[in-house]
Amino acid sequence: MSSVDLPIMMKDSYGRAIRDLRISITDRCNFRCFYCMPKEAMEWQPKAEILSYEEILTLTEVFVRLGINKLRVTGGEPMVRRDVESLIEKLAQLEDVEDLAMTTNAHFLRGRAKGLKEAGLQRITISLDSLTPERFALLTGRNELAQVLDGIDAALEAGLFPVKVNCVVIRGINDDQAIRFAEFARAKGLFVRFIEFMPLDNGKIWRREMVVPGDELRQNIHTIYPLERVNSANLSETARRWRFADGAPGEIGFINPVTQPFCGHCSRIRLTADGMIRTCLFSTVEYNIKRLLRSGATCDELAGFILTAVEKKEDRHHINDPEFVQPLRTMSCIGG
Ligand code: SAM
Repeated sequence: MSSVDLPIMMKDSYGRAIRDLRISITDRCNFRCFYCMPKEAMEWQPKAEILSYEEILTLTEVFVRLGINKLRVTGGEPMVRRDVESLIEKLAQLEDVEDLAMTTNAHFLRGRAKGLKEAGLQRITISLDSLTPERFALLTGRNELAQVLDGIDAALEAGLFPVKVNCVVIRGINDDQAIRFAEFARAKGLFVRFIEFMPLDNGKIWRREMVVPGDELRQNIHTIYPLERVNSANLSETARRWRFADGAPGEIGFINPVTQPFCGHCSRIRLTADGMIRTCLFSTVEYNIKRLLRSGATCDELAGFILTAVEKKEDRHHINDPEFVQPLRTMSCIGG
């Protein structure tokens, strides 16, 4: 592809190897999680601004050439975009990609999980913030918990492994459900991960008091179901992992970006659905690679652009600093 000397593994200016690309394929979603998207008056990006699958593939090939070996397809809700399976199939064929995952709300998984697995998807992460129908409806704006639970079963039946369930915990909303989620993990062999609520929300409702420290949830679970630490060799992993001491299946993880930031080992970079590179969830600047791509740039030129963006990757987020500025775009537009 290239005549120019490119690094085999790109590193940012702090020496962190960048291995992990999150690709958002749409800003649209069929759910309206109150902290992520307004119920009405959501303005979608015009279709022409959204990268086509061909464009995503071209860019991903360049990223992979630069050392990316983990891909995650996300959104918005990636399964609302037509024929996501065809994109997964092409991404799965890229040489040197070791890990191909997707994040979804699971609403469409029954009937499609098997096809995704056959297309080459290896594992899946499902977002689920409540196990009670009323609370689920309150959180998501949709009365569809049963469909999501069925989607989780479909993912398990299709052999996607592991099936991770991500639960964003908000004080006073769903912080009483940790034990239920632990029981859900044990019953189904799921990897349940609790995520601290971050200031990336719609409507700027985030307050520090709404954050439930992962350690608090861990202690609550540990008193009922003792946990043992799982030591992972992968330092860039976002979750601190625990298994059940009694040998029950499943795992519990804690993603604590607010109380225990893990920026020092961050290996992630993001491509938004409208073709911007983001070097941090909390970036206040983006790099418009779509413009360059659509101007007919060569792969070398695209690679050079990516390297320049990576060079400027932030050392850390500033959630805990008084001068913190919340990014303009919410998680659904950035790609969670
Ligand atoms: N639609 C897909 C889904 O539901 O998994 C993928 C996109 S969604 C934006 C990805 C994840 O971001 C979800 O688990 C959601 O709960 C999480 N998220 C959104 N806003 C967040 C915030 N302010 N803090 C923490 N997590 C957030």
